[in-house]
Amino acid sequence: MDETPPLPNVDPSALSEIAKGVFVIGDRRVPLVPNIGVVLGDDAALVVDTGMGPANGARVLEVARDLAGLRPLTLTLTHFHPEHGFGAQAFKGVAKIIYNVAQRDELRRKGEAFLGMFRTFGSAVAAALEGTRIVEPDEVYDGPSAMFDLGGRSVELRAAGKAHTLGDQTVHVPDCGLVFTGDLAEERMFPIFPWFPPDEVDIDAANWARVLATLSAEAPRVVVPGHGARGGAEIVRTVRDYLIDLGRRVKSRRDKQEDADAIVAALGPEIRSEHPDWSQPEWVDFALRYFAATGAAPT
Ligand SMILES: [Zn+2]
Repeated sequence: MDETPPLPNVDPSALSEIAKGVFVIGDRRVPLVPNIGVVLGDDAALVVDTGMGPANGARVLEVARDLAGLRPLTLTLTHFHPEHGFGAQAFKGVAKIIYNVAQRDELRRKGEAFLGMFRTFGSAVAAALEGTRIVEPDEVYDGPSAMFDLGGRSVELRAAGKAHTLGDQTVHVPDCGLVFTGDLAEERMFPIFPWFPPDEVDIDAANWARVLATLSAEAPRVVVPGHGARGGAEIVRTVRDYLIDLGRRVKSRRDKQEDADAIVAALGPEIRSEHPDWSQPEWVDFALRYFAATGAAPT
């Protein structure tokens, strides 16, 4: 990484309308900035993710208000991670905040610990998180999905189950074949494996790959990844292939009694060299250690 990484700030000028009434504030490939969505219906608007910290949340709220006009706002998150959801306090009281139950429970359980951990990621990240408060949703849904009528347009919030986190959620806009994947899929970026045992071990790569298979089978016209450029179904297929490939390669070494350190030493450089144009190579070793520890074998 560059010695002076760009500030993890959402840039409202990176706003574009990617389908009728569907806007994205692009991540500009800046680390710890996610793609953020605003979906407009005739009567209401939905915001997907907030960026990290109260100032980013306020920037996103301002963009959403500009776009939504008098329409009431609802906020949802793709998952609880700080760069996706720790700007939610800007929306508290001015938008209805909706999460799935697993996401809310995970935020309650891990929010403060993640806040502490991210503050150790350098002064720019600590500054972005200054003054962050973890806020509760106003509403939760239980079960696999919730449909919302925004007026002339329905959106579906779909709980993925344990995958990249315990509470991942995809957000679907069926009338334009569009899906926000959160960190279940990135584009030209190594998939993020937050595998930090013993503190953080809530990843299920097999379910993660199943969710991506389902998304792929639905042949979305537009996929907005958690980070990176939007595209089509190839984005989710690429990530699924990566999960399956790593699972297989680690398993064959694990079956020969190779330990995690040996697997990381052998496969890490190999895998990084196979994707020379993917960013955040540091996630490869975490992924390998996850597969080495669990023996997970996504299909
Ligand atoms: Zn994440």
